[in-house]
Amino acid sequence: MFIDSHAHIDTSRFDEDREETLEAAFDGGVTRIIDPGCDLASSQAAVALAKAYPGRVYAGVGVHPHDASTYSTEVRSQLRALTEEAEVVAIGEFGLDYFRMLTPREVQRAVFSAHLELAYECNLPCIIHVRDAHDDVMELLRSYGRGLRGVFHCFSGDVAQAKECLGFEGFVLSFAGPLTKQGNALPEVARMTPLDRILIETDSPYLVPKPLRVRRNEPLFVKHVAEKLAEIRGMSLEEIAQITTANTVRVFGLGEKYEAV
Ligand SMILES: [Zn+2]
Repeated sequence: MFIDSHAHIDTSRFDEDREETLEAAFDGGVTRIIDPGCDLASSQAAVALAKAYPGRVYAGVGVHPHDASTYSTEVRSQLRALTEEAEVVAIGEFGLDYFRMLTPREVQRAVFSAHLELAYECNLPCIIHVRDAHDDVMELLRSYGRGLRGVFHCFSGDVAQAKECLGFEGFVLSFAGPLTKQGNALPEVARMTPLDRILIETDSPYLVPKPLRVRRNEPLFVKHVAEKLAEIRGMSLEEIAQITTANTVRVFGLGEKYEAV
């Protein structure tokens, strides 16, 4: 029924029960999961996982802004080689994070632009992480990202920022656990975003949605995000499932690479 468009199930927090977690998600109506890499090693792990669950788990390859200082020409060529795999459906996640600022701003910007170039070269959608860096992301996309497509994952901005993001025609907004919480503009954003530009995700193991009281998020819980979205849009859960699934399949071309192989 649902696709979790963003879950880091390759990370060590699932080492003890990765298989069970995935089976619980599949049994609970999550048909597909996209696992985006955060550095070279996790990109490789995401691809391996996707190969173990063909047609159910897909991978993105990229370097997260927190790890941007690990990016190099060698990493680039290895990521490029990974994109040849049928399971790789996106470049990412990459982006700018000025909240934690674990890597200097100029390094983050350079690595961001390098990922845009890679996305052009491979004709793949982008999975973009933005935190306290909206203006710079907009500037870099305008300069180097024209015509690209992808997702602003775990969108966390306000209505004005959402409108600016939606100004990039090939891009959609993805909502995660924060949509279920109080004190942000996300319900308003989710209300105004065109239905064909919305995805849902968990960002597992992070961002546990309400009302759950667990320490670790997992793909099964994407339905809580879907439920909140259905409530906000005044639609049924089935409609939301259908629409967000179709959007995710379209943005990432899920299945296309398999058919071509
Ligand atoms: Zn993520």
